[in-house]
Amino acid sequence: MTARILVVDDIAANLRLLEAKLLGEFYEVGLAASGPEALTAVANWMPDIILLDVMMPGMDGYEVCRRLKLNPSTAHIPVVMVTALVDAAERVRGLEAGADDFLSKPVDDPTLFARLRALLRVKQVQDAWRLRAETARELGFETPILPTTSMRGSRCLVLSTDAEEVAAIQGILAADGVAVQGATVVEDAWMALSEGGFDMAILCLSPDGTDALRFASRLRAHAITRDIPVLLVAQPTQRSLVLRGFDLGANDHVLRPVDPNELRARARNQIRRKHYQEQLWADLDRSLELAVTDPLTSLRNRRYVMRHLEGVLRGGPAAVLLLDVDRFKLINDTHGHAAGDAALRVVAERLKANLRAADVVARFGGEEFMVVLAGAATDYALAVAERLRQTIHQDSISVGDVGLSISVSIGVVLAPQGSTGAQATAAADAALYRAKAAGRNLVMLAGDADLQGVTADC
Ligand SMILES: [Mg+2]
Repeated sequence: MTARILVVDDIAANLRLLEAKLLGEFYEVGLAASGPEALTAVANWMPDIILLDVMMPGMDGYEVCRRLKLNPSTAHIPVVMVTALVDAAERVRGLEAGADDFLSKPVDDPTLFARLRALLRVKQVQDAWRLRAETARELGFETPILPTTSMRGSRCLVLSTDAEEVAAIQGILAADGVAVQGATVVEDAWMALSEGGFDMAILCLSPDGTDALRFASRLRAHAITRDIPVLLVAQPTQRSLVLRGFDLGANDHVLRPVDPNELRARARNQIRRKHYQEQLWADLDRSLELAVTDPLTSLRNRRYVMRHLEGVLRGGPAAVLLLDVDRFKLINDTHGHAAGDAALRVVAERLKANLRAADVVARFGGEEFMVVLAGAATDYALAVAERLRQTIHQDSISVGDVGLSISVSIGVVLAPQGSTGAQATAAADAALYRAKAAGRNLVMLAGDADLQGVTADC
């Protein structure tokens, strides 16, 4: 797995040492010798991970980390603090500045590479989603996402054979409003997690430790549990198990005796990342929804219905109905645009109420609507069109205290398999034009000439 890694340290010898180690593992390496240099390098080079020295003159590592995490365009880049300071208070300070992990100098190679692999795995998933969300956002109106800060209401599962350890973790995380559910056997933990709704799993290694690791890899193997952050709790002597755990899908770890502040800070980072990912998904869904929906009527829009029609015609015939509200300009001019909008919404509702779920109805533009009936025969399509025409004309629409009588003209075409959406639309439009010319509030069927004429033109 190749990736760009930015190394930040004020001492040149430290930079060279880490650079050599990382190049040896075929990572791309960038170097920065101060906080400000690091911020510039991040903005220009967009690394995948940052290894950040804590003690630097001027702007120290904590400050660099805080700035990166406050900036929406860099907040998602994992930061690993590297320092000779090893006490718990310093670790917590780094984690609270938003660091994703902490390594002590001199850096131990297996630990470094296991952590890099684990962080990169998570980042690659997130990057794929970020890219899709950004593309979708270009079509929509969403704002960039910043990770949330509140943990309240989050749910965490703790698996430990030791009920006292479960209770202790429960007490620690309660301070951040995280609800903890305990499990002392693997099957109970699996039952709970596979039902969904958890923001994190804490797996406490037993003296043997392999159960927890097998469970971590089982979580990664199933779609419903794949994205739950996994944090391991282990003895200092279980270092090699923890490193294997990272490769099996664990995201972070704490060592016993558990320092409450460190556990809280690490849990916060993991849960925040999970929430960030969920926001990306929701953002993407919303953007895609916006891109294919007409805001006034909530019907599908022209872009969607044309794609749909093209798809249907590749596999078989379809009836296409093109509807146009009669004398719509007069409604707008006489009663105002609000009345015009209200009329369009009522037409949309009546169309939806009189079609099957599988039929697609869209606002085609202005006062025009399109209905696609996949595989429909002529008689059926004409019957549907006639029913829609009557339904829309039957009851007047009340706008404020005025009752408006409205009607639609409808052009219908039976488009054969293999014709294009543009051909079908042009033929339906020709029939619609004849319905208008013949007096409006009418249904007209396009003839072969309408379709063929278009074929010849194309
Ligand atoms: Mg330093």
